[in-house]
Amino acid sequence: MGKCTFTRSAERVRAAGATVSGGVNSNFRMGVAPTPLVFERGEGAYLLDIDGNRLIDYYLALGPMVLGHSPRDVVEAAKRQLDIGLLYGGQSELEYLAAAKVVEMVPCAERVRFAGSGTEAVQLALRLARAVTGRSTVIKFEGHYHGWVDSVLWSTSTPQDQLGPEDAPVKHAASAGQDLPAGQNLELMSWNRAEPLLARLAKGDVAAVIMEATMCNSGGIFAAPGYLEAVREACTRHGTILIFDEVITGFRIGPGGAQQRLGVTPDLATFAKAIANGFTVAAVAGRAEVMDRLVDGAIMHGGTYNAQPAAMAAAIATMDRLSKPGAHDGMERQGTKLMRGIEAAFAEAGMPVYVGGYPQIFTVNLGVTGKPSNYRGLAKVDKAAYRKFTTALLGHGVRALERGAWFLSTEHDEKVVDRTLDAVRAAIAEVAP
Ligand code: PLP
Repeated sequence: MGKCTFTRSAERVRAAGATVSGGVNSNFRMGVAPTPLVFERGEGAYLLDIDGNRLIDYYLALGPMVLGHSPRDVVEAAKRQLDIGLLYGGQSELEYLAAAKVVEMVPCAERVRFAGSGTEAVQLALRLARAVTGRSTVIKFEGHYHGWVDSVLWSTSTPQDQLGPEDAPVKHAASAGQDLPAGQNLELMSWNRAEPLLARLAKGDVAAVIMEATMCNSGGIFAAPGYLEAVREACTRHGTILIFDEVITGFRIGPGGAQQRLGVTPDLATFAKAIANGFTVAAVAGRAEVMDRLVDGAIMHGGTYNAQPAAMAAAIATMDRLSKPGAHDGMERQGTKLMRGIEAAFAEAGMPVYVGGYPQIFTVNLGVTGKPSNYRGLAKVDKAAYRKFTTALLGHGVRALERGAWFLSTEHDEKVVDRTLDAVRAAIAEVAP
């Protein structure tokens, strides 16, 4: 097979700059080598671009497409609803059915509110925590990403030489133009170190601790044994709301997300992405006692498009499939094979690598030896070398994120994974030092 080329995409994105700033509608879609791509359609594990390439896709739109591109059941469910109503500004039976499904699947979910994006779900969870506790301080961790609003977009990808001491990490706004006072009640800590966190919680003035229960946005790093349990216990003891941000892990790594897989139940959890396989659905789910503080209307939660009916129909179809016994088994098998295969391919080339996370969402950290325990353990990640690798890989018809995260879908079968591993070996041969 000849190498893929992307000249039409490059030209189209460049020309589109005349109407769309930078030719892209999210910063996460820019800076892609050799060019941001323009697509015509998606089919299962594949995306077809305007250069005529049929690419195996491990971006999966940054996570949502857990059932692959354009699954018939999800598409048909949404279409049926599109024929009869788009948006009501009121309730539909679909949102009650979708909420019941979340309650059935997710351990912490006694009540649910739907939102428009993961970012908005996080905003609601933090607002609830502050209102319920009457406290202001929220603790977040280095390298954990919770959306792009001013109050939480801090220290998501700080250069390692700017982190400061581990016991007193320096907080960095992650965007130009960010309203700095919006982050003044956000305290930053280094993740996976129980002692300092427990000591901080013991002061009794923290509204919420928010974390990715497995750090998927940086590195694919698991909590140390006992860490989540200790944080859970301390939050309960000191009246702090524990929030798991399951925007990536929710519905993807198992029917009940990270909290089910890891056996620790937060007070609140945020969801988006895989809950509706590409439709704009997000949710906050949690304990009735906390969530029902929304009932009297004193805590503001809005959103014109919340629980949009066709998106709710898609969410129900997606969750129906993901709640079937064994729904995640294929991804577990193929993802494991892929993780081990990538590790072996880099090892053969003498290139150190840490491949971490779940078979359904893992991260390839080139240049890292051993098992990092938090963001600071990723100091040796060789971003430039990995980018060369993903660029070469794209030439061989496989699209993987330059940041190292690989998302799988139920459509990534053995044949797809075998083809991927051939491409991985060919790309490594091109870029190995
Ligand atoms: N939280 C986590 C863990 C995420 O990974 C993301 C997005 O990648 C968000 C929140 C924000 O979600 P959205 O992009 O839907 O606003």
